[in-house]
Amino acid sequence: MTSPEPLAAIIQVALNTPLDRLFDYLAPGATEADIGRRVWVPFGHRSQAGVIIGLVEHSAVPEGQMKPATEIDRGLPPLPDDILQLARFAATYYQQPLGATLLSLLPPALKRQRFRPAAPGAYRLTEAGDAHCQTLPARATAQQRLAALLRQGPATPADLADLRAPLRDWLRRGYVEPAERLAGPSRTDAPPTLTPAQRYATETILAADPGFAAWLLHGVTGSGKTEVYLRLIERTLARGEQALVLAPEIHLTPQLTERFQQRFPDKRLVSLHSGLADGERLAGWLACAEGHADLVLGTRLSVFTPLPRLGLILVDEEHDTSYKQMDGLRYHARDVAVWRARQRGVPIILGSATPALETWRNAQTDRYHLLSLPERAHAEASLPEIQLVDTRTDRARQGLSSALTEALHATLARGEQSLVFINRRGFAPTLYCQQCGHISTCPRCSANLVVHRLRHGFQLRCHHCGLASRPPETCPDCGGMDLRPFGQGTQKLEDTLTEAFPEARILRIDRDTTLRKGAFAEMREAIAAREIDILVGTQIVAKGHDFPHLTLVGVVGADQALMSADFRASERLFAQLMQVAGRAGRAGQPGRVLIQTDYPHHPLYAALVAHDYPGFAKRTLKERREAEFPPYVHQAILRAEARNMAEAMAFLDDARNLGLPSAGPVVLYDPVPAIMTRVSNWERAQLLVQSRSRQALQAFLSDWITGLRARPARQIRWHLDVDPLDF
Ligand code: ADP
Ligand code: ZN
Repeated sequence: MTSPEPLAAIIQVALNTPLDRLFDYLAPGATEADIGRRVWVPFGHRSQAGVIIGLVEHSAVPEGQMKPATEIDRGLPPLPDDILQLARFAATYYQQPLGATLLSLLPPALKRQRFRPAAPGAYRLTEAGDAHCQTLPARATAQQRLAALLRQGPATPADLADLRAPLRDWLRRGYVEPAERLAGPSRTDAPPTLTPAQRYATETILAADPGFAAWLLHGVTGSGKTEVYLRLIERTLARGEQALVLAPEIHLTPQLTERFQQRFPDKRLVSLHSGLADGERLAGWLACAEGHADLVLGTRLSVFTPLPRLGLILVDEEHDTSYKQMDGLRYHARDVAVWRARQRGVPIILGSATPALETWRNAQTDRYHLLSLPERAHAEASLPEIQLVDTRTDRARQGLSSALTEALHATLARGEQSLVFINRRGFAPTLYCQQCGHISTCPRCSANLVVHRLRHGFQLRCHHCGLASRPPETCPDCGGMDLRPFGQGTQKLEDTLTEAFPEARILRIDRDTTLRKGAFAEMREAIAAREIDILVGTQIVAKGHDFPHLTLVGVVGADQALMSADFRASERLFAQLMQVAGRAGRAGQPGRVLIQTDYPHHPLYAALVAHDYPGFAKRTLKERREAEFPPYVHQAILRAEARNMAEAMAFLDDARNLGLPSAGPVVLYDPVPAIMTRVSNWERAQLLVQSRSRQALQAFLSDWITGLRARPARQIRWHLDVDPLDF
């Protein structure tokens, strides 16, 4: 006989506060089944959303002072235990309070007390519904109409607007279920025959023992990594399990979503990203949590989605820096995904043409299993030929060398498309006084103001704080009249190209031209329809797009990244250029890539020309080992911001002194001003902490941060970033 559960009167609640502790509230009638549920409680002067973490019978809070919880939400499923554990891991690892962590990984709508899940994109018949349609009496006219509509395929709420009553009834009886509206008539192209490398990779993973394993799928651009993903997902879905696919910026790559939905037309695909309205995101999240969704395609935030039937995790473009969250809980979604795969005992596949060096090293040391796709999948496609244009001899005029100009002419003459890549938006990176050399800088940030061209005239903009101003008529330093934009941005390059190729149809793609929702989709269509001859763009164009008629890629202004003070700059440049180069010649015609540089003998470019990622990785890892950089050491950065630098530095000096006695094998460097010293009038400084041992670093950090939190920090904003990617 089971004894009835004790009537626990007190719940322990995680709240979004800077305090690393739980809060006790009275909740007569609460049971173990409420753990993981959202709850509203009075906190300070208002009501706050929290998550119930535990039940206790006694609290340290004196009885008369404990407040009752306002409302426990029992209408939604509680957060499952594995998500609570995952949050606990993330909170511990990234040194954030559990409450702040938990609340930040919930869809925003769940933090409001009253919310309404959005209507799904479409409805479709279930099997039971299909059977029901066969037996409908002729006089049930409304049901007959509903049946007629749904038997043609999924229908949107708008299609069914005047059939709401029978629809509600059918939903209740399970004859109809929510579905995503398919992006067009569902093509059921036969899947391609796998290339030998694809087949080997797929079969190796499928034949592996069940349970956790981490695989690195290193496939050159166009090698067909997606096809491997699809085969793996196929088995997962066939087993009735859910697959979680992480991808960077999926709102920019709807091609990927379409491809997945087309391959599994009768499975429910949910996409999750920050571009969704709160209601849509909640609906998707619930579909996952309740087990209705089969396939989740999402950005970094989706790594925390409850998935009761999880069977497989894929991380596409695993090197992409957008997997790292830059504020609040500064987690890396790839690393959290690996932890989650181990926790749930499922395989995880990390895919990239240019893996992060951390990942590559994990593969070298056999923590991850390496599988390679060394060639392009398409029978006639080969890797593009990459050439360097020595701009010391072939001087670039207005950004274009004669070699690149000629190549653009030839491509245009063949009726093929070109892409000129420059990773700088705006007209020019600075406004420069010809007389005294003055450069216009942001009054609030330690950054130059970027010249942008508007429809009428120019504007100066700060890319860090957003400040916008009219360019001065005269130099604020010397009064000189000759102020000129200096250097190249996408807008200026667009002008240069328009002048040089008056007959060409030119399209600029950067953050400024793709702001409007849907703008990028229209551009992609225009490119696919061959209405564009030359694209000018930033990295937005580089990511994962398949433009079959694009055969020439020109790279302008890449050298700048070689000069960066950040030790990760060359890794990023290599990945970025590999990605951009990978846009060329993906279908039949051979592709060609021209990189303009003043440093044609730089080893980074040599590796690029040879398509030699392993060579690049080996050399760079050797440098990292010698210089004691990650992945050979583990780092954390304590950043502080104050109204003046002395205060920020004093805070960090104090912090260092606090940590030194317990540092052990952990090295605490001296505080230094950040590379971007000032942003929006906040002076920034940082303190680097590192150790060869991750465990030692973790142990040190958790003590240290507890001490730091206990100190008064007036006028200071500070945070700790574990495994920082930026300096
Ligand atoms: P990646 O993600 O590795 O850059 P994709 O998965 O986008 O590459 O594949 C590149 C191109 O090759 C796509 O157009 C895809 O349809 C095609 N492709 C993939 N696998 C095969 C195959 N086995 N046979 C023919 N074409 C393929
Ligand atoms: Zn600024």
